[in-house]
Amino acid sequence: MNRFVAAVVAALLAGGSAQAQVTEEMLANDQASTGDVLTNGMGRDLQRYSPLDILNRDNVKNLVPVWAFSLGGEKQRGQETQPLIYDGMMYITGSYSRLYAIDLATGNEVWQYDARLPEGILPCCDVINRGAAIYGDKIYFGTLDARMVALNLKTGDVVWNRKIDDYKAGYSYTAAPLIVDGKVIHGVSGGEFGIVGRVDALDAETGERIWSRPVIEGHMGELNGQPSTMTGTLNATWPGDMWKTGGGATWLGGSYDIETDTIVFGTGNPAPWNSWLRNAGTPTEGNAGDNLYAASRLGLDPDTGEIKWYFQTTPREGWDYDGVNEVVAYTDRAGNKRWATADRNGFFYVLNREDGAFVSAVPFVRDITWASGIDETGRPIFVEENRPSDPAASADGQKGETIFAVPSFLGGKNWMPMAFSQRTGNFYVPSNEWGMDLWNEAITYKQGAAYLGAGFTIKPLFEDYIGSLKAIDPDTGEIKWEYRNPAPLWGGVMATAGGLVFTGTPEGLFLALDDETGEVLWSFQTGSGIVGQPVTWEQDGEQYVAVVSGWGGAVPLWGGEVANKVNYLNQGGMVWTFKLPKQLASAN
Ligand code: CA
Ligand code: CA
Repeated sequence: MNRFVAAVVAALLAGGSAQAQVTEEMLANDQASTGDVLTNGMGRDLQRYSPLDILNRDNVKNLVPVWAFSLGGEKQRGQETQPLIYDGMMYITGSYSRLYAIDLATGNEVWQYDARLPEGILPCCDVINRGAAIYGDKIYFGTLDARMVALNLKTGDVVWNRKIDDYKAGYSYTAAPLIVDGKVIHGVSGGEFGIVGRVDALDAETGERIWSRPVIEGHMGELNGQPSTMTGTLNATWPGDMWKTGGGATWLGGSYDIETDTIVFGTGNPAPWNSWLRNAGTPTEGNAGDNLYAASRLGLDPDTGEIKWYFQTTPREGWDYDGVNEVVAYTDRAGNKRWATADRNGFFYVLNREDGAFVSAVPFVRDITWASGIDETGRPIFVEENRPSDPAASADGQKGETIFAVPSFLGGKNWMPMAFSQRTGNFYVPSNEWGMDLWNEAITYKQGAAYLGAGFTIKPLFEDYIGSLKAIDPDTGEIKWEYRNPAPLWGGVMATAGGLVFTGTPEGLFLALDDETGEVLWSFQTGSGIVGQPVTWEQDGEQYVAVVSGWGGAVPLWGGEVANKVNYLNQGGMVWTFKLPKQLASAN
């Protein structure tokens, strides 16, 4: 059969007609194209802002459910995914590395893919997945056994399946991949196992690796199968061989700013948690002992993986303040191009989008203990007595003094993404007010074993709330309003041109708040805790909103006294889709 006939036969087998293709241009235009949601973040700058205003503060009370879809099975664990909407379909990922294609009109399942996970995977923080990426005629997602899988959008057939790294050494993957110029860009999870963080770019068609950029100094990068450049300078900021198992997991994926052609990835805690093994605590000269580029944000060249700039949020990190939280590209009210990020360490940072230079930082949670502020260079002003002490200096050499640290290691904010509203110019940050008892312990590296050298117990700070959704003015650092929630917030946020801010609670409520006042204008009980990420789109002149419900994630596993406080919450696994019916759009 000649090539043309073969192509026609292939098209017929694939569903009767030539398959639609998602292009780089469509990804670049995702925020403005309101009929689909093609990217994690509703745009690769991760603003999570929709220009749709069919649904607004006046009519949101008329928002009603259209259909719900169960993820089924016995695998009802934390559901942290963000739905993607394309060509009459919704795509979601689920716990235990599952992917579903759902008919958008009916809520019926079209296909389901279940990764066959081996025994012995080492997910640190629940068997979650945070979403997929679409490009061409394929959909991509990472798995708990550290693989990247490409499936046909229409059929769910596997096109390629590539090993990222060795799950037995602690590697896994849970973040949504990022697509830039035909490359699937992803990081690695496993920072609690002494892995080495890196960012990889794969050819979207074949899965072949184009470049790799380790994020810990001393490691060699790769470009087109050849060694490229070393990351940083060997032993400039790391003592001895500690860099070889230095952590810096890039576990939350990245964002992309098309204007500066820069990918930004955050990097997790340096390993192990016991910082005295990486920094002796002597007065530092320059940045010796800072452990670059852990607990940092890195601006990367999407073509080569070269580091364009870096900003380290927590030098010589020792509280598990991973620097992975999303970095959102936006333009401030004066027209300056900026990045913003709300760090685990409790500070909200604004950086210059051209070069990553520090602009400002303000605390966004109360009673931070580890630093008294951020100086004019962007470096924390450490409170030395609130650093957990060196176990080697203790009587038995095994355990250091216990200190109480705020925020807890689960962060002033964790993975759950904030939103930026182009309407108000404010960020909407899902934060938590909690602290921890923390102490250091002796530790040596052993492959596939937890590499912490620390012990901890998380505790609430206040009787009546832990979660706190905050509207933050990035120009002034002012907190405009706050919505307090008894349980810790663990779900994503979305803002719309209709003056609405959507998020969910572990108690199961899906909420729409007034973006100017924080008043709750609408809520719906979804039956399980929401730790997913809402999206909105337009279909036949009506505005839809969807979110996945299903309690889980790191809080029940690692939350200490907070986990006990919320242990009544039920698990689940359900997509809820809502719309504003046409006849109710103008009703009051
Ligand atoms: Ca779109
Ligand atoms: Ca960590």
